[in-house]
Amino acid sequence: MLDYQAILEEIHQSLNSVKDTGEVASYIPELANVPKEKFGIHLQLITGENFSVGDASEKLSIQSISKVLSLTKAFQLVGNHLWERMDVEPSGNPFNHLSLLELENGIPRNPLINSGAIVVADILLSNLKNPKKDFLDFVRNLAHDNTISFNEKVAESERLNGYNNYAAANLLKSYGNLHNNVEDVLDFYFHQCSIMMDCRQLTNAFFVYANKGKCLKNIQHLTASQVKRINAIMLTCGFYDEAGEFAFEVGLPGKSGVGGGIVALLPHCFTIATWAPALNPQGNSYLGMKALEHFTTKTKLSIF
Ligand code: GLN
Repeated sequence: MLDYQAILEEIHQSLNSVKDTGEVASYIPELANVPKEKFGIHLQLITGENFSVGDASEKLSIQSISKVLSLTKAFQLVGNHLWERMDVEPSGNPFNHLSLLELENGIPRNPLINSGAIVVADILLSNLKNPKKDFLDFVRNLAHDNTISFNEKVAESERLNGYNNYAAANLLKSYGNLHNNVEDVLDFYFHQCSIMMDCRQLTNAFFVYANKGKCLKNIQHLTASQVKRINAIMLTCGFYDEAGEFAFEVGLPGKSGVGGGIVALLPHCFTIATWAPALNPQGNSYLGMKALEHFTTKTKLSIF
């Protein structure tokens, strides 16, 4: 068997000294104040073995990684009706791109860009009794961890600076693709983005996508077909306009967030999460992408 701990340590050490890693997200103070040097990696094998290095047990703001989890809940609730309200094509544009083309007459290109995730939030609002609480419970269940919580300060900052998301939601509303009111949908969206998790908790929550729809507790949350679809969307749309680059360099389905987190997985084999807050110009964690590239190169474990 590969010595995974040694591999993670080697990768961490070789990248830790890299100087020019980009800038942390600065659109809200809670993200701007996160120390740039944080760097952690956590690997969880399908057998349940865990390997960790660096700051893997410090909480980070999961941001857009939450879009996969909200998509999962919505898919559970409304099944293939989801695709009547959004497409599944990569956008080749930044996450907050707003052109009419991007929205294709009110239909977002995919569920992992902001406009798509806002429609997913709208679907959850229409189908959950206590949307924020029920969604948080869902994430806690998936990860098998009741300590996972929203960060109210982050959610409030997102609201105060969320002009682009207000614009997207209003545009969707004008096309009739938002059924609840803009303020309520965005309140939910800003809260899902504010969830705090560490790298290990991320690998716990994403275990379901590596394990044919069954979570750590062996409960079936998704059908095999739904897992296939979500993994396909992560592979083609999980990294904004850098999804091609991630597939090319790393070769795994995954999702990034502007908090500097990345989660990726190899079906039937492992889930892995990295955290390094400095972002490349496309808004993806610079060191996280490099670490995953080294990991799949060293272990020869990728979907290709
Ligand atoms: N909260 C951020 C936004 O909606 C999330 C973006 C991201 O992680 N890409 O702008």
